Amino acid sequence: MEKKHEPKKPREHYRLRTRLIHGSFATGRWDYDHHVVPPQSSSATFRLKSVQRGAEGFVEFGSETAQRAPIYIYDRLDEPTRGMLEENLAAAEGGEMAVTFSTGMAAISAAMGILMMSGDQVVAHRVIYGCTHSLLTNWLPRYQIRADFCDLTDLESIAKVATDRCRIVYFETPVNPTMELIDIAAVRRVVDKLNVGRREQDRIRIVVDNTFATPYCQRPLELGCDLVVHSLTKDIGGFGTDMGGAVIGSNRYYNLLMLYRKDFGGVLSPKNAWSILVYGLPTLATRMVNQQKAAMKVAEFLLKQPKVARVVYPGLSCYPQSELARRQMISFDGKFAPGSMLYFELKKELPGGAAAASERMVDFVADHAYTITLAVSLGQIKTLIENPYSMTHAGVPEEEKTRSGLLPGGIRLSLGLEDWHDIIADLEAALAVA
Ligand SMILES: *Cc1c(COP(=O)(O)O)cnc(C)c1O
Repeated sequence: MEKKHEPKKPREHYRLRTRLIHGSFATGRWDYDHHVVPPQSSSATFRLKSVQRGAEGFVEFGSETAQRAPIYIYDRLDEPTRGMLEENLAAAEGGEMAVTFSTGMAAISAAMGILMMSGDQVVAHRVIYGCTHSLLTNWLPRYQIRADFCDLTDLESIAKVATDRCRIVYFETPVNPTMELIDIAAVRRVVDKLNVGRREQDRIRIVVDNTFATPYCQRPLELGCDLVVHSLTKDIGGFGTDMGGAVIGSNRYYNLLMLYRKDFGGVLSPKNAWSILVYGLPTLATRMVNQQKAAMKVAEFLLKQPKVARVVYPGLSCYPQSELARRQMISFDGKFAPGSMLYFELKKELPGGAAAASERMVDFVADHAYTITLAVSLGQIKTLIENPYSMTHAGVPEEEKTRSGLLPGGIRLSLGLEDWHDIIADLEAALAVA
């Protein structure tokens, strides 16, 4: 057999930005040594050479110790395109393994599913993604799993709500949409103290939703979290064409995640995996660098606007948690990486109050802007705008919104790749009617 193309230096010696473009030269997942772009796989089931081989496939399924190329049996168990994406996702986050899912929510429910059972507790930050909040409050209680919320910017609040049955501390940072940060390394220190004297299986695990920052801007595993979850639908997919999710962490969770995915069935379609593998992840660094630049320019512009009360962007020097931002949000190549999301509020003195003004402004964008689109979701090459108070976060209890600074006049912007001069021009026109 012809010798496989292998780089002289191990690929771990190349920078991440490069590795996310080239992935594995010679993956055991598949022989694609002669393809410049890996093939797209589309096969619900796989031909087996013998009953013996089929039996081996079932025995080896979900085993991280399998030395040989995986034996593929059926798409829902495992599949090569998805496998290649998982290798690259693990590399991007600095994890040992990644398991992908059909959506971000499928990934988040899997992380919860493998770490908890009936009688356990999850402690979460008081503001989290709307559907995650619903999962915790509508669905987990049906399995006698309780969810309690606290303010993770106040680290002492964890011990006040965590019980002996607490198995997960869960949060997003930056928090959606208020752009507050939670100190991952500090949460680790608190959880380590709470874990003293607990048996291995009773320990509290830290799960971080890293969707907002992306692995380009922040790698929570390096800061001490146990599992990272992602919506691949956002910046990792990057173009807004496909949905997906992932759980990333150490090999110890691999078998359970694969088993969970097999039985609950939320697998990522190989066609979606291929798009994210070929278009999304390889362009992540380049997109983030440029989106981030636009976010900074727009944040600086908004700061100067008389109708704007507050701009929250971790890149601004006036950002309240600037020191933490500079410590925690670091790019692949060690630079400060504040991301592409920002939040701002209009002044309450505007006609009808801040809520009415922000609705006028966003409606004007919907009707007249070229570079900004009124839509939920985020992390695409197109700039998106929304009003979280009345849209994505409508379900958050009123008192939580007030406490966490999620006010009716607030507007969330997800910066895309348009020329930032054009984005600012569209915002300027919209602000005129606010
Ligand atoms: C979008 C999103 C999710 C859910 O992801 P889906 O792919 O839509 O299921 C979870 N967390 C955050 C922070 C998100 O933005």
